[in-house]
Amino acid sequence: MNSRFVSSSLKNENEERFEQSLRPKTFDEVIGREAEKQSLSIMIESAKKRGKALDHIMFHGPPGLGKTTLSYVVASEMNVPIHITSGSAIEKTGDLAAILTSLEPNSILFIDEIHRLKRTIEEILYPAMEDNVLDIVIGKGPSAKTLRLELNQFTIIGATTKLSMISAPLRDRFGMHFRLDFYSDDELTLLVQQKARLLGIEIDDEASLKIAQRSRMTARIAIRILKRVFDLAVVKGEKIINPYLVEETLSMMGVDENGLDELDRAILRSILKNFNNRPVGLNTLAASLSEEPETIELVYEPFLIKKGFDTKNYEG
Ligand code: ADP
Repeated sequence: MNSRFVSSSLKNENEERFEQSLRPKTFDEVIGREAEKQSLSIMIESAKKRGKALDHIMFHGPPGLGKTTLSYVVASEMNVPIHITSGSAIEKTGDLAAILTSLEPNSILFIDEIHRLKRTIEEILYPAMEDNVLDIVIGKGPSAKTLRLELNQFTIIGATTKLSMISAPLRDRFGMHFRLDFYSDDELTLLVQQKARLLGIEIDDEASLKIAQRSRMTARIAIRILKRVFDLAVVKGEKIINPYLVEETLSMMGVDENGLDELDRAILRSILKNFNNRPVGLNTLAASLSEEPETIELVYEPFLIKKGFDTKNYEG
């Protein structure tokens, strides 16, 4: 087993299908996130009472913390269809026009990684988000004409790991912003138990807590570790997951007692030894580790900072 696998932020297709099967459908099934659930419930009830589409919503925070999950739950609590796309998938203005004109009344368009939207596409979104109209330019040069199409009322839910990359005009068009923080050990323990139940896996309380404590405070990672421990349990013919199985799996995955994996340790070691514990640029650090700057910035850095790690208290 490879430690990079634990922390990778990127989801492949299989994983997306698997995650889909584990996603809560209602607020009751969502663990923690009490403040977010309360605000969203009020927004949903108000929109329903008024018979209007929900206001546009933005979720931001590191990967694996429930942005997509909450978006699905909002759609199911609103009882409206949800359509999924991502900032990088919308390449041309025509792509966005095709999506927007086919949205059912009050439906939700979920745009993952919304910071990747091109400026030209963002500009079409502004009037669509504000006035439910789509301005299409037909022809070129002096004879070009703008055609205005009325759209059904709809809601955009944007998710991003990089809020700072979203232009101010786009940010301002979201009526509600939620910053999703890391999960506590208690929340992740409940989450591990919930997913184990859904997967038909038996696990004892101590083992659930152990997984929670070593999951970088991140739901997706807790689920990945649970799956790896389950594999080991199957191979060893164990019926119930116990702390020893968890420990053995984590040590094979290179995850230490603090939940740090090989790359976390390599980052801290590099800052300490190669850069004499001085501030170092992200690209330089990434190059020294042959790693993608984005992986370090989005997945590793927020966790290390949250954990209060710096090279001064680390002796790797
Ligand atoms: P993000 O969109 O922020 O990358 P996801 O919403 O895809 O994260 O969450 C990753 C996985 O964690 C999903 O499979 C989901 O089932 C689970 N999950 C995340 N947050 C919660 C939660 N609060 N309660 C239950 N499951 C959750």
